[in-house]
Amino acid sequence: MTEIAILSGKGGTGKSTLCASFATMEHDIVVADCDVDAADMYLVLFPEDYVENNFITGYKARLDQTTCTKCGLCIDKCRFRAISMIDGDVTISDTSCDGCKLCSRICPTQSITMIPSDKSCWYVGNYRNGKLVHARLDPGEENSGKLVSIVREKARKLIDENNWKCVIIDGPPGVGCPVIASITGVDKVVVVTEPTNSGFHDLKRIMELINNYRINPYVVINKSDLNIEISREIRSWCDSNGICLAGAIPFDEQVVQAMINCRSVVEWSPESEVSLIIKSIWEKVNKD
Ligand code: SF4
Ligand code: SF4
Repeated sequence: MTEIAILSGKGGTGKSTLCASFATMEHDIVVADCDVDAADMYLVLFPEDYVENNFITGYKARLDQTTCTKCGLCIDKCRFRAISMIDGDVTISDTSCDGCKLCSRICPTQSITMIPSDKSCWYVGNYRNGKLVHARLDPGEENSGKLVSIVREKARKLIDENNWKCVIIDGPPGVGCPVIASITGVDKVVVVTEPTNSGFHDLKRIMELINNYRINPYVVINKSDLNIEISREIRSWCDSNGICLAGAIPFDEQVVQAMINCRSVVEWSPESEVSLIIKSIWEKVNKD
């Protein structure tokens, strides 16, 4: 099995465009959309026969007003300032509660209980070239790293069950914990960047992170004609650091049209320049 993760420094650099194209060029693919805060692959891949599963992200404190004596101990001790007195009632804010359980342990009248937060979900569905696993983190919830690990675990299981060979991971943007969860143990990482100063800076940060792992990195410059000078700088930086520049994709209206029509660009316009470049990138990354 080969696991290929696609990353970018920030959202909107073309990561999902590339991922959707990779996902629709061959069959027997499992796509793991690990951008759990903003999953979007389902919009292009249209999975069917959905299976939905709840995910417990943590716990939230619940208060029983009928037994609370309003002693204020929990208000004083909550380090997350999640408990306050509002209109004479002790009130717990779900968004601020970290689920540390301290209040439920110290309340002298056992008025606080902890309940699981299970509004986040992960899903599995069939799409035209294989299977898609993705997830939705409930707004305000943390623990996206754990949800990413669940999505990846499920994707691997599907590969084993079907005797397929390739997982494509649409990773979250940035360099945080969910990104680490997305690339740990993968075989290859494709970093999509744009020729801007901030794009170049983000690329260097991601490469610093990747260097901590034994992973083959590839770089793709998206909208490479946006700034020829910075594109050139990125090329020569890749050369001098021994990083494979898998391709440079110029801006193409077909990408926008494909998006509007909920198709990958290689499906929408298979003979366009951008599609041919993406196919050659896939050849390089997949066959190396
Ligand atoms: S510690 Fe218990 S009794 Fe005291 S205010 Fe908090 S919930 Fe009410
Ligand atoms: S569980 Fe922890 S964070 Fe949540 S209200 Fe209680 S003390 Fe505060």
